[in-house]
Amino acid sequence: MLKVAKFGGTSLSDAQQFKKVYNIVKNDVNRKYVVVSAPGKRTKDDNKITDLLYLTHAHIKYSVPYEPVLKIIEDRFKLIKEELNLKTDLDTEFRIIREHLDNKCSEDYIVSRGEYLSAKLMADYLNCDFVDAKDVIFFNYDCSVNEDKTREKLKEILGRSARAVIPGFYGSYPDGTIKTFSRGGSDITGSIVSNAMGATIYENWTDVSGFLVADPRIVENPKQINKITYQELRELSYMGASVLHDEAIFPVREAGIPINIKNTNEPENPGTLIIRDDQVDEDYAKEHIITGIAGKKDFSFFYVHKEHMANEVGILRKALEVFENRGISVDHIPSGIDSFTIVLPSERVEKISHEIVEELKIKCKTENVQVHRNLSLITTVGIKMAYQPGTSAILFKALGDNNINIRMIDQGSSEINIIVGVEDKDFDKAIRAIYNAFINQ
Ligand code: ASP
Repeated sequence: MLKVAKFGGTSLSDAQQFKKVYNIVKNDVNRKYVVVSAPGKRTKDDNKITDLLYLTHAHIKYSVPYEPVLKIIEDRFKLIKEELNLKTDLDTEFRIIREHLDNKCSEDYIVSRGEYLSAKLMADYLNCDFVDAKDVIFFNYDCSVNEDKTREKLKEILGRSARAVIPGFYGSYPDGTIKTFSRGGSDITGSIVSNAMGATIYENWTDVSGFLVADPRIVENPKQINKITYQELRELSYMGASVLHDEAIFPVREAGIPINIKNTNEPENPGTLIIRDDQVDEDYAKEHIITGIAGKKDFSFFYVHKEHMANEVGILRKALEVFENRGISVDHIPSGIDSFTIVLPSERVEKISHEIVEELKIKCKTENVQVHRNLSLITTVGIKMAYQPGTSAILFKALGDNNINIRMIDQGSSEINIIVGVEDKDFDKAIRAIYNAFINQ
């Protein structure tokens, strides 16, 4: 059994949180490789260290003295060190950082220091090895990860360690300079380490006990999702239910390594286990027929109707070109015999929807084109819905009983989800109705 445990910023925000991480890691000998983020917010109004590091860089860029911001960062790390009685030489570390700052170092270098110092302190605290991510995570100059070299080095260097802490979020270019992932990228580091080391499980420790069936701001006390497949998660994340960095999924999914989302503040909670479709077991089958509900407001629907459209070849392509030519991607295209609707978030067509309507009229040679705004999409996800007669009936009845008008229905042939479009004003009510119909029946 080998576990890679990645801890997010809220799990490392102060000495108290460091202690919780210490206990979690020490509690299980299988937690051999620990990946850490930079300290996050301690309270709602606090700052993330990474944000302050970006701010430091902005000061340098605009030739404003950076010292006051760097001092805040330094004080936060020093406070953790003092409260935990650690011996890491932070004075030297900050002297080196200042030297780099005064010598026009890159933004990536500066912002990576949050993870670097967080890992230094955690390795000191756990009394185990510190492995710098620049020596084990390698990027090509086109910003992609050099997978072979990364795997080889991770195996070689981590293989020698009984336990090691690795900073998340960054690696290095072939010339040794620092390169970061996009924001939230420590999740990716954890996933890459899990893949290279052949982990049994990738634990992703955060401040929530996994995913909930619905947004707790809408549904009171929603149930926790115990198990979810990668495909289901993709559908839910796309609609805004996100806890993990998108790119963190691929390395572990490919290797069939489950991800366990766990809560540092409630370690006994089993959290949510993300598995591959082929790892679905009996336990999973016993759970509710749907796995989760998520949605987003503010969509625009472009409705195109034309007599005898069904016989016309190429009309859909012509309509889609109107969006393609502007570099706008579209989300859904539900269709009828003589009509179709192009659905996309309103922000993509903010100031140009009338222009698009006019162009659709010309391209599709019909006057019957309208745009409808202020619509929401709600997706109800569950691989168990496939081949289950009656699921959509439950959903539509729930909406009907609550007087909610459905403006669009979309179900792919994989039957993994049903998407409905409703008016923005009915958004919360619709989610509650669906939740109650499937979970509280
Ligand atoms: N510290 C980085 C960020 O705030 C990376 C991470 O936490 O995953 O984006």
